[in-house]
Amino acid sequence: MDSIKISKEHNMPTFPNTELEILRYWEEKDILRKSIEQRPTDKPFTFYDGPITSNNKPHYGHALTMVIKDVVPRYKTMKGFRVDRSLGWDCQGIPVEYEVEKELGFEQKEDIEKFGIEKFNEMCRKSVEKYQGEISALTKRMGRWVNKDEEYATMDSSYIESVWWSLKELYNKGLLYQGYKVVPYSTRAGTTLSNSEVALGGYQAVVDPAVTVKLKLKEKDSYLLIWTTTPWTLPGNLLAAVGRSFDYVEVEYEGEKYIVGKELVETIFGKQLEILNTYKGEELVGMEYEPLYPYYAEKSKEGAFKVVHAEHVTFEDGTGIVHQAPYGEEDFILMTGMGIGMFDYLDDQGNMKEEIEQFKGMFYKKANKYIMQDLQERNLLFKHEEYEHQMPMCWRTNTPLIYKPIKSWYVKVTAIRELLVKENKSIGWVPEHVKEGRFGNWLEDARDWALSRNRYWGTPLPAWVCDKCGEVEVLGSFAEVKEKSGVELRDPHKPFVDDITYKCEKCAGEMRRVEDVIDVWYDSGAMPFARFHYPFENQEKFKSKYPAEFIGEGVDQTRGWFYTLHVLGGALFNKKAFKNVIVNGMALAPDGTKMSKSKRNYTEVNLVLDQLGADALRLYFVSSPIVNGEEVVFSEKFLKDITATVLLPYWNSVKYFLNYQSQFKWKYDSNWSTDNVMDRWILARLNQTVQEVEEGMESYKLHKASKPIFNLIDDLSKWYIRRSRERFVNGDKQALDTLHFVLFEISKLMAPFAPFISESVYMTLANGFIPSVKESVHLEDFPSVNKEFLNEELLSNMSKVRDICSIGLNIRDEKKLKVRQPLSKVYIPLEEKDMMEIVKGELNVKDVIYSEKKVEGEGIESQEAKYVFVSLDTKITEELKEEGLLNEIVRGLQVARKDSGCQMGEMISVKYRSESKEILDLIEKNKEKLCKMIFVESFEKSQEITGNTVIKVENYTLEIEIVK
Ligand SMILES: [Zn+2]
Repeated sequence: MDSIKISKEHNMPTFPNTELEILRYWEEKDILRKSIEQRPTDKPFTFYDGPITSNNKPHYGHALTMVIKDVVPRYKTMKGFRVDRSLGWDCQGIPVEYEVEKELGFEQKEDIEKFGIEKFNEMCRKSVEKYQGEISALTKRMGRWVNKDEEYATMDSSYIESVWWSLKELYNKGLLYQGYKVVPYSTRAGTTLSNSEVALGGYQAVVDPAVTVKLKLKEKDSYLLIWTTTPWTLPGNLLAAVGRSFDYVEVEYEGEKYIVGKELVETIFGKQLEILNTYKGEELVGMEYEPLYPYYAEKSKEGAFKVVHAEHVTFEDGTGIVHQAPYGEEDFILMTGMGIGMFDYLDDQGNMKEEIEQFKGMFYKKANKYIMQDLQERNLLFKHEEYEHQMPMCWRTNTPLIYKPIKSWYVKVTAIRELLVKENKSIGWVPEHVKEGRFGNWLEDARDWALSRNRYWGTPLPAWVCDKCGEVEVLGSFAEVKEKSGVELRDPHKPFVDDITYKCEKCAGEMRRVEDVIDVWYDSGAMPFARFHYPFENQEKFKSKYPAEFIGEGVDQTRGWFYTLHVLGGALFNKKAFKNVIVNGMALAPDGTKMSKSKRNYTEVNLVLDQLGADALRLYFVSSPIVNGEEVVFSEKFLKDITATVLLPYWNSVKYFLNYQSQFKWKYDSNWSTDNVMDRWILARLNQTVQEVEEGMESYKLHKASKPIFNLIDDLSKWYIRRSRERFVNGDKQALDTLHFVLFEISKLMAPFAPFISESVYMTLANGFIPSVKESVHLEDFPSVNKEFLNEELLSNMSKVRDICSIGLNIRDEKKLKVRQPLSKVYIPLEEKDMMEIVKGELNVKDVIYSEKKVEGEGIESQEAKYVFVSLDTKITEELKEEGLLNEIVRGLQVARKDSGCQMGEMISVKYRSESKEILDLIEKNKEKLCKMIFVESFEKSQEITGNTVIKVENYTLEIEIVK
């Protein structure tokens, strides 16, 4: 344990090493468990951990959320709450499958089927476990505390059973239904994506062919021109849509007649043409045309191959006449509304099915080329161009998405939208704008959630359908499965669950499970209850831990986990799932771009931890706007700054205390008090800081909570200690009492943010000094504000003093007057005696005189800033000059003492030599004083000086030798 403490012989701290020692100490003493168990069970504070997808090596994004997820629970624990710290693993879904597919070199879903689903799923399970170790190691190294008994994994059978229970609940409430819809679809992943997932993938510029195609009108020797960037949808063309009130014209071009939007003639044909006829859109409605392809010709009976009116037609691009096929959401709604039966000629992988004979087996993108060629040959292709547009991308496979009509299961989010919007109003968001902005807008526009995925490694959708009459049953527990089928389910995953069939109760048919698994985001959204195997077990426990007081994740989760958590909370429990949330931004590489493994534009997190330690990284994160949802450039430079401006000054202040403590044999006294103004000031600052940290933490604004501690440490080391130096040198008990107290309290204040150095300081200042202390700072209560010490007037006066001093030093600087050179007097607008004393010491003047306004006179220099001024007398008398020189000599001797390795208080002898009579006289005159000041036994003038220690005093030199 001594290796954790700071000692006065300790010259430079090695924070990373000490941190490792502290980790061992915590483990050995079981501090986490003690910190939880010493708090009452009836005072819980619930925190939910968003399950981590462990399909990747840990990175800064992980480290950042680990910090946020640790700071709040540590703070609340010290505030007296019982805080369990869950850790969740998100184990299933496309991300995991994709990793395994990559490993096996698979290109498409069929490869998985050939390989065997059982083997494939087993590999998925293993792949998750592969990275869990690394993420756990980082969790520990960052100082994030998690308790094992709260850990959960979404692939556990008990977890899946709870999810099944919830799906049945939704089904019974009419919130789970099966529908045919056009949805975003990833051909690479072979599955549909939810709108949240589309948002995750973003958009990318893609170059597609843009074709203008001729539709031959049946009763007229003229063509309609349609335009599309998806030629592969042309075999499915069923309608041509116009705007009822828009103007259209018939023109002749190179011997053929065309109908297009009036104002688009020049764009399409490259010049204005003679207008043969003009039409309103509604005059065109009902005109029939010849199908481009024969495959769906019989759809003419349902009303296809006609001009229709559609609201979504515009003249923005194309021809003003819009191609309609089942592969567009608006098209789909229009056509199903007309009673035209839908179809889908792309298979799961995006290849043309058998029925499109001419292009069968072709990937849709490849088919584009052949379709254009075919239309060209049949003289139906009017124009072909390249067209760059923004396409939605698959968030996992980074391939373009298409819109595909498929049968899918949906959560009817639209039915509970109002509840979701209402519940969001009482959630505390940091930053606040996410509430009504990113998240609020997303809720306002919420659509039904396409839940089913035609994949393998996921929670199977527990819906069984009769192969004869179509009866549907959703089973909500393994017991129910056994009751229906007689099969005891050991592993609910595919392929085992697919083997389970049973007789239909309505007819003689067979009930078979639908093949789908569900969206992995449902798994994570189900964590509040599924982690406890609710409602099969832990009913009370779940109720006492719902909703969460606090959650925290990255800004991308507004459409991911935050959303699914909120939707399931509303759908299942009629209320919100969390009360407060911190949304963190993204850490960018030092060059301001996204951190990229392939570009190697950043240092790996583990290396940074080895070099600079977890406290530095934690303090950097919590004090930056990244904990307020903003993007932040991350560089080790900033960590070094934190070390230099926070950790080292704090550490050095403790060492400073230890030096004088040992020199003067200071002892702790619980009844200490002080009347000194510097002491009272730093105590006021301490309490002011406690108040600010508390305000920041209670509002979940970690940057506002942490910065005040940095400022306090700065004030402590740069002002309090400096201005109290003489008192420490003389062993002033009040000063030592105060410094000990303040450093000790800072260790508690800092504990949630920088748990390691806080522990070090706590141990150092508690053990051996204070009779009864805790085993760890993390078992302490968080400091509370002591109103008695909060002296507003003192704080305001001291900040005036500091302004005055900085102006005074500025005058000295401009006049090239070293601070060691005493001056006679200064005039300032402050009349409190103890404040004037501080100015006297800091500005090194003999006299401080109160004045209401600036003073003028020979050698008096005045400056002002804000509400204060300083008039400094800069005249130097002989006496002052001598004192200044003596100060230089003292200073030089002190440095020499230190350099020669003398301990504080150790007596030495000094030999000296100088060419300057002035210096020699000065030393002779002040010998006694010098001896006292620098612990010198004898001061001897000598011509034989060894070593090479030279003190420069103005233009003279003084050579000295220190004899121990
Ligand atoms: Zn049936």
